Amino acid sequence: MIALSLAEIAAVVGGQTHDIPDPSVQVTGPVVRDSREVVPGSLFAAFVGERVDGHDYARAVTEAGAVAVLASRPVGVPAIVVEDVQTALGALARHVVHRLGATLVALTGSAGKTSTKDLIAQVLRRKAPTVFTPGSLNNEIGLPLTALSATEETRFLVLEMGARGIGHIRYLTGLTPPRIGLVLNVGSAHIGEFGGREQIAQAKGELVEALPPAEEGGVAILNADDPLVRAMASRTKAKVVLFGESAEADVRAENVRLTDSGQPSFRLHTPSGASDLTMRLYGEHHVSNALAAAAVAHELGMSAEEIATALSEAGSLSRWRMEVTERPDGVTIVNDAYNANPESMRAALRALAAMGKGRRTWAVLGKMAELGDEALAEHDAVGRLAVRLNVSKLVAVGGIEASWLQLGAYNEGSWGEESVHVSDAQAAIDLLRSELRPGDVVLVKASRSVGLESVAQALVETG
Ligand code: ATP
Ligand code: MG
Repeated sequence: MIALSLAEIAAVVGGQTHDIPDPSVQVTGPVVRDSREVVPGSLFAAFVGERVDGHDYARAVTEAGAVAVLASRPVGVPAIVVEDVQTALGALARHVVHRLGATLVALTGSAGKTSTKDLIAQVLRRKAPTVFTPGSLNNEIGLPLTALSATEETRFLVLEMGARGIGHIRYLTGLTPPRIGLVLNVGSAHIGEFGGREQIAQAKGELVEALPPAEEGGVAILNADDPLVRAMASRTKAKVVLFGESAEADVRAENVRLTDSGQPSFRLHTPSGASDLTMRLYGEHHVSNALAAAAVAHELGMSAEEIATALSEAGSLSRWRMEVTERPDGVTIVNDAYNANPESMRAALRALAAMGKGRRTWAVLGKMAELGDEALAEHDAVGRLAVRLNVSKLVAVGGIEASWLQLGAYNEGSWGEESVHVSDAQAAIDLLRSELRPGDVVLVKASRSVGLESVAQALVETG
């Protein structure tokens, strides 16, 4: 964080100082909410959670070097006491980003936010110091904490913004107003909570509504291939830049193909030139993510060549997203157990098919959560796609949704004996341990709550 005195912080957040002998002492370290992350100079934000109350750690964090605690009640050690810690954190983030000289880039979408954010960060940090959301900390607490981790040196601040309803993105953009806003796609993630795709588009589009007008440098980067995203152009005063495979896109890909190992290869076109690249990441969905990242980098002055080089060297910075492990015995495990929705399931199955040419392929799949009324149809469609892509074996893991996956596969063709339904992760592990042969490729994927990473991890360790 940029150094701020406790007096200044208290004024910004409208808090009372308690047990602070010298209010001119500065917070120099990060602002953290996890007591284990405290280092000398930190400010500790005490949240009251369901199981733990941050205030109980006040003494421990002070001993570990925290300068003060941002708290909702006096705690007997130096504290800035506010009515609501989350609101205070937001106010502090807004104050700090206002003082930074950094360009704020924010992105949202139904699938691929974290993957794309990681790509953007890996491209931009070649040009200048970049701070970005760690993992998926994209909500009303993670976002200000990320913004507060920026320093005087930071030139680019890349922020993932998540939305579970109308008004969420507007709230986040109020804390950290972006100059560049990117919307990736409108899919069916959290559709059950939102009520429908139009509502999702309404919520995600709040990002482009928050951008400054073109004259002040505002840039809205929109997916030309997604009609609901494309239509957001009418909701912004910012300059609109389109990315995608369609010919009208300003930043686009040509000659897209997957290599035999499942890595996308294409010719990148930006308004400043063109350059060929092959990605290190797996799956065709990363073409769209890469183009989005390229559009951001182009707007920030990078050439097509620089961008292509950076994209071709970029890896995954976040775990369990198409994480590929080659076992010594020649079995390939693809761990995509971080999360799943219909779009990402299709993308992952296509990647599996490309990687598994001439090999036996296994799709170990579990439920996609939060699909509301579309759940049955979407699981059925994924099961069918697995058959159409000639996946050799489908292992559906879990409850009713898994049986819909299996039913879809069964209904698609004469393939029923190649799909099995097992009750839980352990049963899947037992089955695969006995059945896998050298050369097999295994994709493991489901929504976060299913916890299929245990299957991927067990299989990686078995080899
Ligand atoms: P969350 O809402 O959980 O933060 P996210 O939007 O950050 O998710 P990622 O974590 O990047 O998304 O990816 C989630 C899943 O979507 C992964 O399984 C990944 O393989 C897949 N995915 C990534 N990019 C795309 C894309 N452009 N289209 C469809 N699926 C994608
Ligand atoms: Mg994410």
